[in-house]
Amino acid sequence: MTRQRTLKTQIHSTGIGLHSGKKVHLTLRPAPENTGIVFRRVDLNHTPHISVCPTCVGDTRLSTTLMKDGATISTIEHLMSAFYGLGVDNAYVDLDAPEIPIMDGSASTFVFMLKSAGLVEQSAAKRYIRIKAPIEVREDDKRASLEPYNGFSLSFEIDFQHPAFSDEHQTQSVDFSSLRYEKEISRARTFGFIRDVEALRMQGLALGASLENAVGLDEFRVLNEDGLRFRDEFVRHKILDAVGDLYLLGSPILGAYHGYKSGHELNNQLTRKVLSSENAWEYVTFDERDSAPISFVPLTA
Ligand SMILES: [Zn+2]
Repeated sequence: MTRQRTLKTQIHSTGIGLHSGKKVHLTLRPAPENTGIVFRRVDLNHTPHISVCPTCVGDTRLSTTLMKDGATISTIEHLMSAFYGLGVDNAYVDLDAPEIPIMDGSASTFVFMLKSAGLVEQSAAKRYIRIKAPIEVREDDKRASLEPYNGFSLSFEIDFQHPAFSDEHQTQSVDFSSLRYEKEISRARTFGFIRDVEALRMQGLALGASLENAVGLDEFRVLNEDGLRFRDEFVRHKILDAVGDLYLLGSPILGAYHGYKSGHELNNQLTRKVLSSENAWEYVTFDERDSAPISFVPLTA
């Protein structure tokens, strides 16, 4: 049987919040099978527990933000992407601030934390969402869709008219059967234009943003001294984000995702549409060990 996974042991890290610029303590803990990913605000009196789900997302303007009973948790998408990429089904995420630390702007710190903690198999079967019929959302010229596919693949196209975005580096696709997530997707950083950061700061946002945790662009070029990690780092990051946003569904997907200029808002609309399109998908489990058409990183010893 292909089984659920959680962390072997808890692991702690600190970083700064992208928006607050303040220090955030983050602890990832093992959770029982069928718990899913549950965020807990340990700085609040009643320690609200917030499970992930598409309809728990209350704000997608700058990142994916969960909201419940007045408590919010922002910028969850890179951590969710790492959970998905490493096949983690169940975990508690404890933090003492309203946002997940931005780390280096990619998912690589979270991948490192999960691999350092180690992963263990649990007894319950891993549950996948198998897409049976196409599901698509559109807004203006933006699109996001899921189609039937015996595996999990993502393709993404962006369309930025900017000297740093050459035409041949605006599309990318990955197939999870080849385990490319960690090396080729998780390290791609978020990016932003300096003019936008200045406007956000006027509103008290993006106070923690710097070239330490994002690729910064002016009108002509990339400003980071070391340049890009990949020639097409921008579109790879959009795939990283899409992986995290899709995991709000709570299960890995058997299907093909296509994004055209999509972002957190449209990705969230897509996952909401999955929930409401009951005939377009089904839950499946695999009785034979490792018989699922996608595999995740081997368990660490
Ligand atoms: Zn992102």
